[in-house]
Amino acid sequence: MSTASRNTLFQALSRGLRGRCPHCGTGHIFYRYLKVSPECSVCHLDLDRYPSDDGPAYFTILLVGHLFVAPLLLFPFIWKTPIWFILPVTLIPLTAVTLAMLPRTKGAVIGALYALKVSREDAALHTADRLD
Ligand SMILES: [Zn+2]
Repeated sequence: MSTASRNTLFQALSRGLRGRCPHCGTGHIFYRYLKVSPECSVCHLDLDRYPSDDGPAYFTILLVGHLFVAPLLLFPFIWKTPIWFILPVTLIPLTAVTLAMLPRTKGAVIGALYALKVSREDAALHTADRLD
């Protein structure tokens, strides 16, 4: 990967993390919580052509699991506190963190797909169950 394409990848990831268009960095990717705008309102990039699919959920679970759940299990109070108390005390903040991270992760995945030039049309090339 060349330096220019690496810079484009990091720039598109950064813009996607902020919920901005990976091409111009000004327009918004989402028009609602996780609904991707059909096109950028500033540069008119077709944002709907980047299929993020299950990637954002996968990366969000991966990050929350490694950054919050695994370290939380190292504290003894998790194992010693009654379950009726520890479940709401831990699950409510974890749910909030997960819901806060999900649009950022989805934006980053869309940014990566933009930088790597992967579009919805490429999905047919990688489908294993395609009929020939
Ligand atoms: Zn744009």
